[in-house]
Amino acid sequence: MPKRKIIVIGAGPAGLMAAGTAAKMGARVILLEKMPYPGLKLQLTGNGRCNFTNTTPLPEFITHFGPGGKFLRQTVSRFFSSDLIAFMRKLGIRSAIESDGRVFPASGKAEEVADALVNWAVRGGVTLSADTSVKRLIIEGRRVVGVKVSGSSLQKEKSHTPREGREFLADAVVIACGGASYPNTGSTGDGYRLAETVGHTIIPLRPALVPIETAGNVANKLQGVSLKDVKVRVLINKKKQAEKTGELIFTHFGLSGPMILNLSGLIVDALRQNRNVIVSIDLIPDLDEQRINVLLQKRMRESGKQKIKTILREFLPNKLIPVCLDSNGIPPDRVGHQVTTAERKRLRLWLKDFELEVTGFRSFSEAMVTAGGVNTKEVDPRTMESRLVEGLYFAGEVLDIDADTGGYNLQAAFSTGWIAGHASSR
Ligand SMILES: Cc1cc2nc3c(=O)[nH]c(=O)nc-3n(C[C@H](O)[C@H](O)[C@H](O)COP(=O)(O)OP(=O)(O)OC[C@H]3O[C@@H](n4cnc5c(N)ncnc54)[C@H](O)[C@@H]3O)c2cc1C
Repeated sequence: MPKRKIIVIGAGPAGLMAAGTAAKMGARVILLEKMPYPGLKLQLTGNGRCNFTNTTPLPEFITHFGPGGKFLRQTVSRFFSSDLIAFMRKLGIRSAIESDGRVFPASGKAEEVADALVNWAVRGGVTLSADTSVKRLIIEGRRVVGVKVSGSSLQKEKSHTPREGREFLADAVVIACGGASYPNTGSTGDGYRLAETVGHTIIPLRPALVPIETAGNVANKLQGVSLKDVKVRVLINKKKQAEKTGELIFTHFGLSGPMILNLSGLIVDALRQNRNVIVSIDLIPDLDEQRINVLLQKRMRESGKQKIKTILREFLPNKLIPVCLDSNGIPPDRVGHQVTTAERKRLRLWLKDFELEVTGFRSFSEAMVTAGGVNTKEVDPRTMESRLVEGLYFAGEVLDIDADTGGYNLQAAFSTGWIAGHASSR
């Protein structure tokens, strides 16, 4: 029997996994990548360390995808974190598991993961064509039969150029073009356009895992300050909608850091509906207001001659002190015993509820992932095949799935790639 011909579009983690898996299954595979090198985004992941999965058990793992988790349950269970860790091991990559379940290569080098994946795919027989951008899908009846590209060095490859030099024919095509975030890595939303032209619905795209912008210049003054183990509440139209404890970082425009990125989905959706969004930071979550009051009172009494700006060092990082005093109208040089009961009350309320109004969010170029994408209702979760076009498969971020930080997004890319690779090669 002649080998099945598969075209995979996009050499990110999803496309590399799909291509390598299909080749292993005996298919003849061409992997088309529009950038000069494969896996560019993969090399940036986890701050260059590549947090490629998470050991959280499946039921909880799935919750990190929000409503998209339902579609992924079956897929991820067939190629889960333990399978990915074992797969990496076979590629020569030992894993390091951190206390919160996040898994990295022990070398701490994302590059190592990208190189190993590319080598595995190419050694397994995948023909990789870089600098090759897929412009459209070729459809006959209800079936995809190939792609039209620009810029391929493989144009003269006989068996794959049956029409004009810039067309590749295939029995199946896997779209693994990624999302629309960090476009300089090649993920410029082409997958959505390709899918849309053949009838797929695209759930509106939004930047996700994205830093947020806040009103005024408070964040700017605090630029670079990182707060660990603080509690953040998100108030939408004055109602508490979410609460998380973790780390946040002040930037010149607002807030970032893992906890803020994980809350950003909710915030972006609320802002897009023109709702008022407030982020309230509890700077001392371990102590209740009463306890803070007692401590403040004690310190003002014991160090009555010390300036309030010095006393507050016990409670706050230095850069936050002028902001705190300014917000509460307390002169920084006022000495402890001159601080009034009303001022002390304002201080303790502020320490538990430092509010910043959210005015916006950063663009796709700063978003780690894209929310929205190919409607998963139009894709078979058992195979990743389109329900609308025969022979067309999807893998990775091009689908309407996105998750919290913690290795979930890469696991989803690898799992969907693995399934699409298997199913398309049969
Ligand atoms: C800075 C940063 C850090 C991150 N860190 C983590 C992390 O630590 N853990 C985690 O789980 N997730 C992380 N993510 C998210 C993760 O990188 C993505 O979810 C993942 O890369 C998606 O994989 P993908 O294969 O679907 O798409 P991509 O990695 O985006 O790959 C898609 C590929 O398709 C190519 N392509 C696009 N259009 C075409 C076309 N028309 N023709 C040919 N090729 C095309 C692109 O050039 C690209 O190479 C991070 C993201 C960013 C931006």
